[in-house]
Amino acid sequence: MRNIIEKYFPEMGIDISWYSKKKITPNIPEKDNLDNLDILVKKCKKCNLYKTRNNTVFGEGSHNSDIMIIGEAPGKEEDDSGKPFIGRAGKLLTEFLKSISLDRRSVFITNTVKCRPPENRNPEMTEIKSCSDYLDQQIAFIKPRVLVLLGKIAANRMLGEDKPISELRLKKFFVEKYDIPLIVFYHPAYILRSPLQKKKVWDDLQYLKTIIGSHGS
Ligand code: SF4
Repeated sequence: MRNIIEKYFPEMGIDISWYSKKKITPNIPEKDNLDNLDILVKKCKKCNLYKTRNNTVFGEGSHNSDIMIIGEAPGKEEDDSGKPFIGRAGKLLTEFLKSISLDRRSVFITNTVKCRPPENRNPEMTEIKSCSDYLDQQIAFIKPRVLVLLGKIAANRMLGEDKPISELRLKKFFVEKYDIPLIVFYHPAYILRSPLQKKKVWDDLQYLKTIIGSHGS
């Protein structure tokens, strides 16, 4: 839809400046970068999650990655260390990436919220909205070619859906403010609990390879 509007509307003499404004525009000066954004996040008190965090978990990986992986929220180990996906689920995620020859350091991994919800509860929509500007800015700086949403909560919150993950995987989604496809993977924590589903992750990974291939430069 965006391509059609941007290509044909100007040719028809229709002003699309109203439309372009919907694209992600970082609210911080251009000279700033991800490291400065991380400093802002460390001081953030925009939602109540700041009250119980030990550390913010900004995300890590390549700042030029084609692939950005977005989980739900930091857990205890992440809150203790300030690093994303370092527990058992994180190790499994690293293995999954390796199986398609992707070094974990070559992708960027983050979460919908940068602070751990107490008792590992799901992040609330208001918390995700409070934190979404940081995520948008990360996406704007990194300019990935695909966003991989890990698990039902991240997927439903980011896509504005309320569907089981089985209905969301192996499909490409587009949301108004991003110009890139979003796809949905099983969360590695779910695979740890249900190892028989591991083969489905292989399908997810193959699908990711297809997306990257079909959106190549
Ligand atoms: S979760 Fe996000 S918005 Fe809420 S306090 Fe942490 S950094 Fe700020």
